[in-house]
Amino acid sequence: MEHNTAAARDDSRQPSAHDLEVLSRQLGRPVRDVVEIPARCVCGNPLVAATAPRLSNGTPFPTTFYLTHPVITSAVSRLEAAGVMNTMNEQLAGDAELSAAYRSAHEAYLAARDAIGRRSGIGAVPEIDRVSAGGMPTRVKCLHVLVGHSLAAGPGVNPLGDEALRQIREWWTTDRCYCEGAWDTTGEAPSRDLSRHGPQGLPDIVGRPAPVRKSANPAEAAQ
Ligand SMILES: [Zn+2]
Repeated sequence: MEHNTAAARDDSRQPSAHDLEVLSRQLGRPVRDVVEIPARCVCGNPLVAATAPRLSNGTPFPTTFYLTHPVITSAVSRLEAAGVMNTMNEQLAGDAELSAAYRSAHEAYLAARDAIGRRSGIGAVPEIDRVSAGGMPTRVKCLHVLVGHSLAAGPGVNPLGDEALRQIREWWTTDRCYCEGAWDTTGEAPSRDLSRHGPQGLPDIVGRPAPVRKSANPAEAAQ
C-alpha cells in the first residue's frame, strides 16, 4: 500500500499494472492509452485516469482527465440530473469574475495536457490545439470532465469542478476511502470492450445507478 506523502506523489503518477486492472474494473471495460494517474483515493486506488492526447491508433483525444471512480461518477451524474449544469451556465453568463476564472481553468487544462503529452513522449497534437473539454472555456457541458480536472489539478484551478465537488460532499469527500464494494473485484478484469462509445472514445459514464451512500454513522446508515 502506498503512503500518501509528497515524496510518493510523483512516482504515484505512473500507472502500475494493478492500477490498470482497477481502472478496467471501475469502468467495466479495458482501458487504453492511460499514461498517468493524476488523482488517487486516500487508499491509493485511482480516481482519475489521464489519457494520452493522441491515442495509439492515431486519434487525437482532447479529454485528458477522465473520472473513473464509480462513487464519484454516480454522484456527479446526480448533480447533472438535478440540473446543476444549467445553473452553472447561468452563473457563467452573469458573473464576469467566475467567467474569467473558468477561462483560466481552460488554459490550465491545455497546459496540463501539453505537459502530459511531453512526459508521455507524444508531443504536440495540433488537431486539438485550443480545444479543451467539458464545454470550457465558455459553457458547462459535462460535469464529470470538470470534476476530473479539479481532482487532477487540486483545488483553486477549476472553479466549477471545485463547486461540483462541494455539492457531492454528501456522497464523496477527498479525505475518505469509498472503494469497498464500489466495483466488482471478483473474477477476471474486463478484457473485452463491451461498452458503447463513440468515435471520441468517450464511454457511457453518465446515467449509472446512484451509489449506495456510505456513512460513518451507523444510525444514519440504518435509515
Ligand atoms: Zn479507496
